[in-house]
Amino acid sequence: MTRDTTGWALLGPGEQLVPWEFARRDLRADDLAVKVTFCGVCHSDLHAIDGAAAADLPLVPGHEFVGEVVAVGDAVSRFVAGDAVAVGNIIDSCGVCASCLGERQQFCEQVPTTTYGGRDRLDGTTTRGAYASEYVVRERFVYKLPAALDPAGVAPLMCAGVTVWDPLRHWGVGPGTTVGVVGLGGLGHLAVKFAKALGARVEVFTTSPGKTKASITLGADAVVLSTDHDAMAAVGGRFDFIIDTVSAAHDPSPYLRALAPDATLCVLAIPDEPWQVDPMSLLVGRKSLASTGSGGIRSTQEMLDFAAEHGIVADVEVLPAAKVNQALTRLARNDVRYRFVLDMLDA
Ligand code: NAP
Ligand code: ZN
Repeated sequence: MTRDTTGWALLGPGEQLVPWEFARRDLRADDLAVKVTFCGVCHSDLHAIDGAAAADLPLVPGHEFVGEVVAVGDAVSRFVAGDAVAVGNIIDSCGVCASCLGERQQFCEQVPTTTYGGRDRLDGTTTRGAYASEYVVRERFVYKLPAALDPAGVAPLMCAGVTVWDPLRHWGVGPGTTVGVVGLGGLGHLAVKFAKALGARVEVFTTSPGKTKASITLGADAVVLSTDHDAMAAVGGRFDFIIDTVSAAHDPSPYLRALAPDATLCVLAIPDEPWQVDPMSLLVGRKSLASTGSGGIRSTQEMLDFAAEHGIVADVEVLPAAKVNQALTRLARNDVRYRFVLDMLDA
């Protein structure tokens, strides 16, 4: 017996998302069923919708959500029905490769299962995301919702949050480091909050003059208008780490030049085309260009604990699920401060 679910799906390339009835799998022993309450709208959802081919359809996006456990499998030990939980963009991994054993499940050598558009490890079906009434997920990839935090603001922590938290931690951001955050959107505004709470000096690179004041309110110490060549030249050579969250294809070289010697630029977007980089921007100062994605289970839990301790959630604009297409249209034109979250109970 499968579980009837209503999702918001892309049924044809270039179309709007529409309500679509489908079946989730029946619970396995280590599965939970979660009634989705809030689901964030990530720019990756927009990329997936824009890039979807006929073979990818129907596509139900959504990979950062919170909700309530409504049923548990026989072997589930950490949750009971009624628990408030959060789920991110990785929902399974092999558990036995070096990456999984090293708590880097996001780099599982047998490919981690993504929350939508992935392949279920046991039955081979395509995963469908959390722009939906219900989600079925393996217990191991479910987190307790921190009680003190606003649930709608926690949903974006599960993709945007951990995706910036993990590199900030990996590259040792903290007291004494100067961090640049490029792009003040869903990922970027959380990078500012986390880096500041970790004790770093934080500067925002933005293309939007209107975000200058907001950057400071979020905790940034300074703002650089990245379209201003003189301002960019003035910051050359002094950042210990830069995290680049720009969603559009762009040349990372100006940000490499802004790094101090031996420092790293971590670019989080996944453009369709290979990067074009000026080799001299890497050579001068022995700089590194890196990327990463998501976070493992330990890192995700650490991020949630830190967020709870410091009262960090995303700044969200909550919309009824039925306004999902409006959210996507506004996200495409950079009209969001700083994350849309769909209220899945207000359809
Ligand atoms: P978002 O909320 O739309 O923010 C992106 C920001 O990029 C915008 O707020 C804007 O900041 C800047 N921007 C947009 N268009 C630009 C352009 N043409 N030129 C320069 N800057 C531009 O997106 P998001 O959800 O934070 O996601 C950011 C990127 O990360 C997306 O490409 C997404 O797919 C990717 N992502 C990667 C992972 C991963 O695991 N690696 C996970 C999640 C998301 P300003 O207005 O301040 O300039
Ligand atoms: Zn995402």
